[in-house]
Amino acid sequence: MKPLSADDIRQCIVNASRGEALRMPLPGLHEVIWEQREYLGWRDPRAPLRGYLVHWVGDRPVGIVLRASSGRMSPGIAAMCSLCRTTQPSDQVRLYTAPLAGQAGRDGSTIGAYICADLACSLMIRIMPPPSAVQPDPAAVVTARAEGLLERVRSFTADVAKTAG
Ligand SMILES: [Zn+2]
Repeated sequence: MKPLSADDIRQCIVNASRGEALRMPLPGLHEVIWEQREYLGWRDPRAPLRGYLVHWVGDRPVGIVLRASSGRMSPGIAAMCSLCRTTQPSDQVRLYTAPLAGQAGRDGSTIGAYICADLACSLMIRIMPPPSAVQPDPAAVVTARAEGLLERVRSFTADVAKTAG
């Protein structure tokens, strides 16, 4: 993805107040390897259930605030992230809810999705599969996963943003 500046991020959050967007902690943007990211996701170190996800739609950044459920899924079972579709141990996937944009969100409406707990889908999809008869080219597998991830992230944030006033 194209790099995001701190201003890009603070101005693009569709489902938080201006004040919340100004106060949110940002990750170390200089340390991000942008070409290996479909979206930038991070957890709030001061409010561990809070998370943020920002990506580009064309030349416009779109970001959302998320809240992780405090309950965990049963241990010992597998769970799938709905964005990157990676199956992992259930404690590495969380149910996140996002307030809807605008009045709907202020009235308490949210939508939820199971997402990698650390919001690092881009790392998960880059774990290369071993070459096999059906998938002889691991790099092509990663490219296809990246396209699918981007499409699902865009659809999720579009659902959050569509109630914006
Ligand atoms: Zn994921």
